[in-house]
Amino acid sequence: MQAQIDQYTAEINAFSPANADELETFRIKFLGTKGIIKDLFEQFKTVGPEEKRTFGKVLNQFKQLAEAKYAELKEATESGPKTKDLELDLTLPGDGFEVGSRHPLSLVRNEIIDIFKRLGFVVAEGPEIEDDWHNFSALNFPEEHPARDMQDTFFIKKNAGKDDIALRTHTSSVQVRMMEHGKPPFRAIMPGRVYRNEAISARAHCFFHQVEGLYVDENVSFADLKQTLYHFVQELYGEGTKVRFRPSYFPFTEPSAEMDVSCTICKGAGCNMCKYSGWVEILGCGMVDPNVLENCGIDSKKFTGFAFGMGMERIANLKYVIRDLRLFSENDVRFLKQFQTEML
Ligand SMILES: [Zn+2]
Repeated sequence: MQAQIDQYTAEINAFSPANADELETFRIKFLGTKGIIKDLFEQFKTVGPEEKRTFGKVLNQFKQLAEAKYAELKEATESGPKTKDLELDLTLPGDGFEVGSRHPLSLVRNEIIDIFKRLGFVVAEGPEIEDDWHNFSALNFPEEHPARDMQDTFFIKKNAGKDDIALRTHTSSVQVRMMEHGKPPFRAIMPGRVYRNEAISARAHCFFHQVEGLYVDENVSFADLKQTLYHFVQELYGEGTKVRFRPSYFPFTEPSAEMDVSCTICKGAGCNMCKYSGWVEILGCGMVDPNVLENCGIDSKKFTGFAFGMGMERIANLKYVIRDLRLFSENDVRFLKQFQTEML
């Protein structure tokens, strides 16, 4: 114990802080509630009665030394020339000003909206809490249709004994609302948040964001669909981006397709992102099923239309190479700040 005190005494005598922070560290180390002096006094309780007398004195002297040193240094930092200099030095920089940054999903959303606006599309929105009709039935998902199993839904209320009110599983419900309440032609995109009952991991989340598009008019054909989406990816990923369509199935479109683009990371050469195929899927699309048009009160003999839908997280991944979906919703500023320059 004596040796310890000698060592600390030497340390205190030699201590010379460069700034107030170092002095504070000193205070916490020696005089803090969990500091060395407190600890020594604890140890002191365990020594024998003989030693108590000698050590009591040593310990008290040591405590006084530490307190005196701290008081002396504190006064020096507070009234010393350094502080005065600080007050007078007008050339020192001011406090930093934190510039905010846009969320990567907002950046992607705004970019997609910009591209389609130039093609004459308007932006439409709808509620995130939907009924069965707008989320499923009107979109050609009949009762017991196996396609309903494709989407794990968060049902939140039963109506007349059946699950009816749910968090929307796709933004297609906005298409239904738009067609029900208007007259063709329709040309709109619908960005928004959607929900699926899935376990959260790097590759899946219980909520994510979609942008859907709808174009309904007389004589709208699959060629219009292809040209619109071709133009979209040239604008989004740059001239020369290749596209390909693969047949697919969705209850609300017929025929349906999935669209791939040449990998934005490796430009088709093959990489981790495209699983070495050179292609990545970015969206689903198709001609609006005549049943859907009829469900929404539109004459399917007179009007045709196309629709498409894509996940915004997917589009952002291909642009910024974000490999973990959870990053989008965790609000880690270290992640978000990386998109600061994108705003300028
Ligand atoms: Zn690739």
